[in-house]
Amino acid sequence: MSKDTVGILALQGDFEMHRQMFSRLDVRTMLVRIPDDLNHVDRLVIPGGESSTMNLLMKRYNMMQPVIKFASDRPVWGTCAGLILLAAKIDDPQIQPLGLIDISASRNAYGRQIESFVAEGILRLDGNERAYEMVFIRAPKILSASDSVETLGWYENEITMAKQGRVLVTAFHPELTDDLTIHEYYLGV
Ligand code: GLN
Repeated sequence: MSKDTVGILALQGDFEMHRQMFSRLDVRTMLVRIPDDLNHVDRLVIPGGESSTMNLLMKRYNMMQPVIKFASDRPVWGTCAGLILLAAKIDDPQIQPLGLIDISASRNAYGRQIESFVAEGILRLDGNERAYEMVFIRAPKILSASDSVETLGWYENEITMAKQGRVLVTAFHPELTDDLTIHEYYLGV
């Protein structure tokens, strides 16, 4: 198992569920709230939640620049609201994203009617396609991704998982399933 300590940004959102997934994999985690916490972790997960609130709290706790610096040599994974914060471009001017992955995304893009749902998507993590159950909660859509972004998952025709270098994003919530596939994959990024 990985000897890394995975930091989980714990300013707001569903950080606890990520923590439980990593502990099922016997991987140590630490909740990250202030810049100094980043000195004690090897990886960072930005969980789902409310991206506008998380963005506000990150600014208040002076976390924006430290996270950008952290990502220059350590792997960062954002789920849902985390994807929104990691993106280069967001359709909501209220959000000032970190710009760590060259995608543009749209917040709450599935609309109010079907804001939360579980659906079978497709993953291609190792060259082979497989079905995977994706949990979406007021999920963002990835509108575009540059050529340097690797696409790894889809639901219908939308990209739902992507990676650029050591920055990984998922529009869905693997921490709300029993399936450890994506957490394991992230440990290899
Ligand atoms: N809709 C939320 C946002 O825009 C994200 C939802 C989530 O993380 N589950 O911040």
